[in-house]
Amino acid sequence: MSGATVRKLRETVCRLHEELVRYGLVAWTAGNVSGRVPGEDLFVIKPSGVSYDDLTPESIVVCDLDGELVEGELAPSSDTAAHAYVYRAMPQVGGVVHTHSTYASAWAARGEAIPCVLTAMADEFGGEIPVGPFALIGGDDIGKGIVATLEGHRSPAVLMQNHGVFTIGADARAAVKAAVMCEDVARTVHVAVQLGEPLPIAQPDIDRLYDRYQNVYGQRSPR
Ligand SMILES: [Zn+2]
Repeated sequence: MSGATVRKLRETVCRLHEELVRYGLVAWTAGNVSGRVPGEDLFVIKPSGVSYDDLTPESIVVCDLDGELVEGELAPSSDTAAHAYVYRAMPQVGGVVHTHSTYASAWAARGEAIPCVLTAMADEFGGEIPVGPFALIGGDDIGKGIVATLEGHRSPAVLMQNHGVFTIGADARAAVKAAVMCEDVARTVHVAVQLGEPLPIAQPDIDRLYDRYQNVYGQRSPR
Protein backbone atom coordinates (compact mmCIF):
# COMPACT_ATOMS: atom_id res chain seq x y z
CA MET A 1 0.00 0.00 0.00
CA SER A 2 1.11 3.56 -0.65
CA GLY A 3 2.44 5.12 2.54
CA ALA A 4 1.71 8.69 1.41
CA THR A 5 -1.90 7.88 0.47
CA VAL A 6 -2.58 6.16 3.77
CA ARG A 7 -0.92 8.96 5.75
CA LYS A 8 -3.07 11.60 4.05
CA LEU A 9 -6.25 9.55 4.57
CA ARG A 10 -5.41 9.11 8.26
CA GLU A 11 -5.09 12.90 8.56
CA THR A 12 -8.39 13.45 6.75
CA VAL A 13 -10.31 10.89 8.80
CA CYS A 14 -8.75 12.17 12.04
CA ARG A 15 -9.85 15.73 11.22
CA LEU A 16 -13.35 14.63 10.17
CA HIS A 17 -13.98 13.30 13.71
CA GLU A 18 -13.81 16.96 14.83
CA GLU A 19 -16.91 17.58 12.71
CA LEU A 20 -18.87 14.97 14.70
CA VAL A 21 -18.05 16.98 17.84
CA ARG A 22 -18.63 20.38 16.20
CA TYR A 23 -22.13 19.40 15.08
CA GLY A 24 -23.04 17.73 18.38
CA LEU A 25 -23.48 14.27 16.90
CA VAL A 26 -21.53 12.34 19.55
CA ALA A 27 -21.31 11.85 23.31
CA TRP A 28 -18.09 10.52 24.89
CA THR A 29 -16.51 8.23 22.23
CA ALA A 30 -19.71 6.91 20.64
CA GLY A 31 -19.22 7.71 16.98
CA ASN A 32 -16.71 6.91 14.28
CA VAL A 33 -15.59 7.75 10.76
CA SER A 34 -13.80 5.47 8.30
CA GLY A 35 -12.41 5.95 4.80
CA ARG A 36 -11.49 3.44 2.09
CA VAL A 37 -7.89 3.51 0.87
CA PRO A 38 -8.30 4.19 -2.88
CA GLY A 39 -7.39 1.19 -5.01
CA GLU A 40 -6.69 -1.06 -2.01
CA ASP A 41 -8.74 -3.59 -0.03
CA LEU A 42 -8.12 -1.48 3.06
CA PHE A 43 -9.76 1.27 5.08
CA VAL A 44 -8.75 3.51 7.96
CA ILE A 45 -10.93 3.93 11.06
CA LYS A 46 -10.99 5.40 14.55
CA PRO A 47 -9.34 3.33 17.28
CA SER A 48 -11.65 2.00 19.99
CA GLY A 49 -12.38 4.07 23.09
CA VAL A 50 -10.06 7.01 22.30
CA SER A 51 -11.54 10.44 23.10
CA TYR A 52 -11.91 12.82 20.16
CA ASP A 53 -9.49 15.31 21.77
CA ASP A 54 -6.78 12.64 21.88
CA LEU A 55 -7.17 11.44 18.29
CA THR A 56 -4.09 11.95 16.12
CA PRO A 57 -3.49 10.84 12.50
CA GLU A 58 -1.02 8.25 13.85
CA SER A 59 -3.66 6.78 16.18
CA ILE A 60 -6.07 6.11 13.28
CA VAL A 61 -5.74 2.41 12.42
CA VAL A 62 -5.65 0.60 9.06
CA CYS A 63 -7.81 -2.52 8.59
CA ASP A 64 -8.44 -4.97 5.77
CA LEU A 65 -11.94 -5.57 4.42
CA ASP A 66 -12.43 -8.41 6.93
CA GLY A 67 -11.99 -5.80 9.66
CA GLU A 68 -8.63 -7.20 10.76
CA LEU A 69 -5.97 -4.76 11.96
CA VAL A 70 -3.24 -4.26 9.34
CA GLU A 71 -1.39 -1.26 10.72
CA GLY A 72 -1.65 0.71 13.95
CA GLU A 73 -0.93 0.34 17.62
CA LEU A 74 -4.47 0.51 19.01
CA ALA A 75 -7.46 -1.78 18.66
CA PRO A 76 -9.91 -0.69 15.92
CA SER A 77 -13.35 0.73 16.77
CA SER A 78 -15.85 -1.82 18.05
CA ASP A 79 -17.96 -0.93 14.98
CA THR A 80 -15.21 -1.99 12.57
CA ALA A 81 -16.99 -5.19 11.46
CA ALA A 82 -20.00 -3.14 10.30
CA HIS A 83 -17.81 -0.70 8.36
CA ALA A 84 -15.87 -3.60 6.79
CA TYR A 85 -19.07 -5.36 5.71
CA VAL A 86 -20.28 -2.18 3.95
CA TYR A 87 -16.96 -1.77 2.09
CA ARG A 88 -17.04 -5.43 1.00
CA ALA A 89 -20.63 -5.28 -0.22
CA MET A 90 -20.73 -1.77 -1.72
CA PRO A 91 -17.64 -1.09 -3.87
CA GLN A 92 -18.85 2.42 -4.70
CA VAL A 93 -18.69 3.44 -1.02
CA GLY A 94 -15.53 5.30 0.02
CA GLY A 95 -16.59 6.46 3.49
CA VAL A 96 -18.77 5.27 6.37
CA VAL A 97 -19.89 7.14 9.50
CA HIS A 98 -21.67 5.91 12.60
CA THR A 99 -23.24 8.09 15.31
CA HIS A 100 -25.91 7.94 18.02
CA SER A 101 -26.97 11.53 17.26
CA THR A 102 -29.95 12.43 19.42
CA TYR A 103 -32.87 13.21 17.13
CA ALA A 104 -32.05 10.62 14.48
CA SER A 105 -31.60 7.96 17.19
CA ALA A 106 -34.95 8.96 18.69
CA TRP A 107 -36.57 8.07 15.35
CA ALA A 108 -34.54 4.83 15.38
CA ALA A 109 -35.77 4.06 18.91
CA ARG A 110 -39.33 4.12 17.58
CA GLY A 111 -38.34 2.20 14.43
CA GLU A 112 -39.82 5.00 12.38
CA ALA A 113 -38.46 6.24 9.03
CA ILE A 114 -38.12 10.03 8.74
CA PRO A 115 -40.65 11.09 6.09
CA CYS A 116 -39.52 13.33 3.25
CA VAL A 117 -41.29 16.55 4.19
CA LEU A 118 -38.47 19.08 3.62
CA THR A 119 -36.88 20.11 0.35
CA ALA A 120 -33.47 19.68 2.03
CA MET A 121 -34.36 16.03 2.57
CA ALA A 122 -35.35 15.58 -1.07
CA ASP A 123 -32.02 17.18 -2.04
CA GLU A 124 -29.74 15.12 0.14
CA PHE A 125 -31.65 11.88 0.72
CA GLY A 126 -33.97 11.68 -2.30
CA GLY A 127 -36.85 10.54 -0.10
CA GLU A 128 -37.39 9.21 3.40
CA ILE A 129 -34.51 8.17 5.63
CA PRO A 130 -35.20 4.44 6.07
CA VAL A 131 -35.05 2.20 9.13
CA GLY A 132 -32.81 -0.86 9.21
CA PRO A 133 -33.35 -3.98 11.32
CA PHE A 134 -32.52 -4.45 14.99
CA ALA A 135 -29.09 -6.08 15.14
CA LEU A 136 -26.58 -6.80 17.88
CA ILE A 137 -22.96 -5.67 17.67
CA GLY A 138 -20.41 -8.35 16.87
CA GLY A 139 -20.41 -10.33 13.64
CA ASP A 140 -21.94 -9.17 10.38
CA ASP A 141 -25.54 -8.54 11.44
CA ILE A 142 -25.28 -4.74 11.60
CA GLY A 143 -23.39 -4.58 8.30
CA LYS A 144 -25.93 -6.86 6.61
CA GLY A 145 -28.78 -4.68 7.88
CA ILE A 146 -27.14 -1.49 6.62
CA VAL A 147 -26.46 -2.91 3.16
CA ALA A 148 -29.87 -4.58 2.81
CA THR A 149 -31.57 -1.27 3.65
CA LEU A 150 -29.42 1.11 1.60
CA GLU A 151 -29.00 -1.01 -1.55
CA GLY A 152 -31.46 0.28 -4.09
CA HIS A 153 -32.27 3.29 -1.90
CA ARG A 154 -31.25 6.88 -2.64
CA SER A 155 -30.66 7.70 1.01
CA PRO A 156 -27.03 7.62 2.14
CA ALA A 157 -28.31 7.31 5.74
CA VAL A 158 -30.04 4.46 7.57
CA LEU A 159 -31.54 4.50 11.06
CA MET A 160 -30.65 1.15 12.61
CA GLN A 161 -33.59 0.27 14.86
CA ASN A 162 -33.05 0.93 18.59
CA HIS A 163 -29.46 1.97 17.81
CA GLY A 164 -28.43 4.95 15.71
CA VAL A 165 -27.27 6.22 12.36
CA PHE A 166 -24.97 4.77 9.71
CA THR A 167 -24.17 6.86 6.65
CA ILE A 168 -22.24 6.14 3.47
CA GLY A 169 -20.60 8.38 0.89
CA ALA A 170 -18.23 8.45 -2.05
CA ASP A 171 -15.59 9.44 0.49
CA ALA A 172 -15.38 9.95 4.25
CA ARG A 173 -16.27 13.65 4.00
CA ALA A 174 -19.48 12.89 2.08
CA ALA A 175 -20.48 10.33 4.71
CA VAL A 176 -19.88 12.91 7.48
CA LYS A 177 -22.00 15.45 5.59
CA ALA A 178 -24.82 12.89 5.36
CA ALA A 179 -24.58 12.27 9.13
CA VAL A 180 -24.78 16.02 9.83
CA MET A 181 -27.72 16.50 7.47
CA CYS A 182 -29.49 13.40 8.84
CA GLU A 183 -29.46 14.81 12.37
CA ASP A 184 -30.51 18.26 11.12
CA VAL A 185 -33.60 16.99 9.29
CA ALA A 186 -34.39 14.49 12.08
CA ARG A 187 -34.60 17.43 14.49
CA THR A 188 -36.68 19.65 12.20
CA VAL A 189 -39.16 16.92 11.29
CA HIS A 190 -39.41 15.95 14.97
CA VAL A 191 -40.37 19.54 15.82
CA ALA A 192 -42.84 19.61 12.94
CA VAL A 193 -44.49 16.42 14.19
CA GLN A 194 -44.95 17.99 17.63
CA LEU A 195 -46.87 20.85 16.04
CA GLY A 196 -49.11 18.86 13.70
CA GLU A 197 -49.05 16.74 10.58
CA PRO A 198 -46.17 17.60 8.24
CA LEU A 199 -47.20 18.03 4.62
CA PRO A 200 -45.83 15.46 2.20
CA ILE A 201 -43.89 16.52 -0.90
CA ALA A 202 -45.20 15.00 -4.15
CA GLN A 203 -42.90 12.29 -5.56
CA PRO A 204 -42.29 14.08 -8.90
CA ASP A 205 -41.12 17.14 -6.94
CA ILE A 206 -38.87 14.99 -4.74
CA ASP A 207 -37.39 13.50 -7.93
CA ARG A 208 -36.78 16.94 -9.47
CA LEU A 209 -35.20 18.34 -6.29
CA TYR A 210 -32.95 15.28 -5.91
CA ASP A 211 -31.85 15.38 -9.53
CA ARG A 212 -31.06 19.09 -9.44
CA TYR A 213 -29.12 18.92 -6.16
CA GLN A 214 -27.13 15.85 -7.11
CA ASN A 215 -26.29 17.03 -10.63
CA VAL A 216 -26.44 20.83 -10.83
CA TYR A 217 -26.04 22.40 -7.38
CA GLY A 218 -22.67 23.68 -6.17
CA GLN A 219 -19.45 24.71 -7.87
CA ARG A 220 -18.92 21.66 -10.09
CA SER A 221 -15.60 21.05 -8.41
CA PRO A 222 -14.76 17.85 -6.52
CA ARG A 223 -16.85 17.88 -3.33
ZN1 LIG B 1 -23.48 2.39 17.86
